[in-house]
Amino acid sequence: MSERIYYTDPGCQAFTARVTRSFLHGDRAAVTLDRTAFYPTSGGQPFDTGVLGDVPVVEVLDEAGEVVHLLDHPLAEGREVEGRVDWTRRFDHMQQHTGQHILSAVFERLSGHRTVSFHMGSELSTIDLSRDVNADEVARAEDEANRAIWDDLPVGIRFASPDEAAAMPLRKESVRTGTLRLIGVPGIDLSACGGTHVASTGAIGAIVVTGWERVKGGARVSFACGGRAVRAHRRLAAVVTGSVRVLSVLPPELPAAIERLQAEAKEQRKAVKALQERLAVFEAEALLASASTVNGVRVIARVLDGYDAAGLKTMASAVTTVPDAAVAFLSSGTPLQIVIARSAGLAGIDAGSLLRRLVEQFGGRGGGKADLAQGGGFEGDVRQILWTVSGLLEDAAGGTR
Ligand SMILES: [Zn+2]
Repeated sequence: MSERIYYTDPGCQAFTARVTRSFLHGDRAAVTLDRTAFYPTSGGQPFDTGVLGDVPVVEVLDEAGEVVHLLDHPLAEGREVEGRVDWTRRFDHMQQHTGQHILSAVFERLSGHRTVSFHMGSELSTIDLSRDVNADEVARAEDEANRAIWDDLPVGIRFASPDEAAAMPLRKESVRTGTLRLIGVPGIDLSACGGTHVASTGAIGAIVVTGWERVKGGARVSFACGGRAVRAHRRLAAVVTGSVRVLSVLPPELPAAIERLQAEAKEQRKAVKALQERLAVFEAEALLASASTVNGVRVIARVLDGYDAAGLKTMASAVTTVPDAAVAFLSSGTPLQIVIARSAGLAGIDAGSLLRRLVEQFGGRGGGKADLAQGGGFEGDVRQILWTVSGLLEDAAGGTR
């Protein structure tokens, strides 16, 4: 079994080791080493990357108590290699992981929120707390965690037997048997943990809680430490700067400005609808005048530019107020919308069933009743669809009397 250098020396970036086994792991070249500073995925912390000699290490797994390095190409058994850990990636992981210890510890101490799980994502990390949390509790924990960072407290590593550990006030019990590795921050936290941590809390830099949500009776708190906290702030600042420029307001006025825009948009939608209804009366007359007549039924199939689904429906209703019209109106934009309708007296024409036949032929979806049906999402050329629905309407009109 390989010696895990990071257990006792988490600051080790380069080391020499011998390849103890070279094999295929699935379809990937893999090796185990007599000693390694590479951290395998476990406990919520992702694996390290780096090189062994000149061979890139693409993933590191903890399998049956052994550290398995997955490689870009094979390395010979027995060979001596120099390992080098990608320190930018690893240091970032150590900042997030140590920050998590502190955040979990202060949540538990200040408001009794127990941490039930931890996940480190590519930009943000999360802890799941045992019960819901409020803004006040989050702010207090965030303040207290940053105080512990600014105090630059040492992060100690020690080993203890399960009996010794049982007598200690551990925040996080270990599920492992045998010797336990304990991580301690004086006055803040003592946990059993196999992960990698910075040497003193100052190296975490800062911790920011970026949000929280209720999940399964508890709360999921998102946070970022160190370089990630800086990047999270930079992203947020860019969003705010861009928004205030577009809206010509100061940052504190943003929420009110967005609410005002939403209210205005709602008013405008209402006004457009009212205008479309008034316009529909005149357009309906023009459309009826240009209709072809089949068996005494005025049949109109048209693409109406600039109409959305609601507008098409308004037009169809306006045209079919006369006693003898059957219509199909299509929108010109995507997604394609269609409304099929007929006058109340033309019971022989079933708009719903015509629409279903279009759906059978062109996909999409839709439905409705005998007098009016609507749908959309068809696959096909709009002229082809128009030509087909025109034929369907004329056939239906032909069979009415
Ligand atoms: Zn840890």
